[in-house]
Amino acid sequence: MIAVVHHPDYVLPAAYAPTPKANKNALIRDALLGCGEEIEWIEPEPMPLDWLRAVHCPDYVAEVVEARVPASKERRIGFPVTPPVALRSQLVPGGTYAAALAAKERGFAANTGGGSHHALHDTGAGYCVFNDLALAAARLVGEGEAHRVLIVDCDVHQGDGTAALTAGHPDIATFSIHAERNFPVRKARSTLDVALPDGVEDAEYLQLLEHHLVPLVDDFAPDLILYQAGVDPLADDRLGRLALSQDGIDRRDTFVASLARSRAIPLASTPGGGYNADLTEIARRHVRSILTLAAAYAGPQVAVRL
Ligand SMILES: [Zn+2]
Repeated sequence: MIAVVHHPDYVLPAAYAPTPKANKNALIRDALLGCGEEIEWIEPEPMPLDWLRAVHCPDYVAEVVEARVPASKERRIGFPVTPPVALRSQLVPGGTYAAALAAKERGFAANTGGGSHHALHDTGAGYCVFNDLALAAARLVGEGEAHRVLIVDCDVHQGDGTAALTAGHPDIATFSIHAERNFPVRKARSTLDVALPDGVEDAEYLQLLEHHLVPLVDDFAPDLILYQAGVDPLADDRLGRLALSQDGIDRRDTFVASLARSRAIPLASTPGGGYNADLTEIARRHVRSILTLAAAYAGPQVAVRL
């Protein structure tokens, strides 16, 4: 049984879908329904306004919630913020928070949306409206649901918004392993950044991930990990600059889940990025990631080297 957070309103009505990407959640849901695993579906509540305002600029929160985001910000986001997009933007952070609470009970849980790591204080950017990772982490700590939250971001793009929004927060740490020459041009400073040159392949990626992430987990000692499991480090990704194989992504996800499990740290995942003309294939990759994480977290203990 895999705990998966999903809400029908993650899926925008076709007339409102700003880009095909917006309906990735429907394809992820459908792929999960057909994957043969038993799924415990959890429906999230929208992230309350007070929590949105605690992380994002209150004026920007109002612009989104009232669907009156200025055109300049909509250009940075990459699509118009219509009322259905506004509702979805509150539901997805609520979903990442719900996945974290479910992970506390069950060990691992996944949100079918989220990983919106480029959203900044007073604007969205790069297909992200609100930063569900920073929002969930701030709320978990603020409500005493976690003492220390580590956000592990393996998307091929740097988690700049997450780093900026949580900077200076002693109980939230951020880790980003990404292609240095990729978007965003101006990087933020995560607690730990691993910036990779173009074309890095499986063996080097996995070695660097392990080398940097294990000490961070042991030094910071989080009692909850939020995972941005972007599949865009894959070699054929349209927006990636790395050269991982599907086996490399599988081993990455197995490593992250095994590391969390070896330290008895609950793990909540978000899909993050993945770009290909074939959206069904992208959804399949995200679902494969969820199933890999769940199996590694539930499966036999895998030795994690120090
Ligand atoms: Zn990405």
